[in-house]
Amino acid sequence: MRLPHLLGNEALKAALAALPPGGLGSAVLLDGPCGVGKRTAARDLAQALLCREKNGPCGVCPACRRAAAGSHPDLFWLEETEPGKGVKLEQVRAMRAQSFLRPSEAPFQVFVIPRADKLNTASQNALLKVLEEPAASLFLLLCENREAMLQTVRSRCKTFRLAPLPLPLLEQALRGRTDASAEEVRAAAARSAGLLGRGLDILAGQEPPSRRLAAEFCASLKQTELDTYAVCLKLGKLSREEYGDFCDESCRLLTEAAAKTGSGQFLDLFEYLEKQRAMLPQNPSVTALCGALAAFCGAF
Ligand SMILES: [Zn+2]
Repeated sequence: MRLPHLLGNEALKAALAALPPGGLGSAVLLDGPCGVGKRTAARDLAQALLCREKNGPCGVCPACRRAAAGSHPDLFWLEETEPGKGVKLEQVRAMRAQSFLRPSEAPFQVFVIPRADKLNTASQNALLKVLEEPAASLFLLLCENREAMLQTVRSRCKTFRLAPLPLPLLEQALRGRTDASAEEVRAAAARSAGLLGRGLDILAGQEPPSRRLAAEFCASLKQTELDTYAVCLKLGKLSREEYGDFCDESCRLLTEAAAKTGSGQFLDLFEYLEKQRAMLPQNPSVTALCGALAAFCGAF
């Protein structure tokens, strides 16, 4: 089984290539940060599973072509019906019912659940039932945060972790996919943490505000307190979930900077951001959080 469109991840590819037929079992969890290539890997895997040729995907047989076009009758992607609302329990139940039906033409059906870690407990339990009674189906679960998934679901999956790309490979991949200048590509790659999807977002000007502001925030720490204050003001416009992403991304950037400089200069700030992150489930106001953050940075 090959993953022809996924870049890097040689260990994962070798592990998959060495699997005997049927070696994936009936549930697979692809784990890794947003933009690492989970959907690409899932598309390749689904194609490989449905391909009629040996050592697929061949990319040219009718099964491969329909899987790639999203029109294979035995391939289902469980996407949210309203943006940002998540997959609903009824959808999981419908998928469960579908999984007990006979496949149309392949030996089994393949179900892809792109944000399995966003499913609520009821949906995960509904999913668990189908993983417990394996029908002639294979489930590909994708997640960014394994910890958000029920242990009972995780333990039934064969887990593969996707890795970010080394910087030279990422730069090369970005160069081949955009007509941005060499300078823009280099800058985007440096800010992408090895994630191709993230690099493409940056180059297309579609970087989520939470991440853009995290970069601005961390850069402002080397400038004046007024600069930090100005960024904190902008943070007030984020939703609670976006503010959580901002905290995560800022912590990641601070860790990256600390590793580069070998200094623990921002350790207090790192811990403070983690504390704010942990408070989010109690629904604090984002305005209060960014005000407190500004005060913490001495920018108030
Ligand atoms: Zn094929």
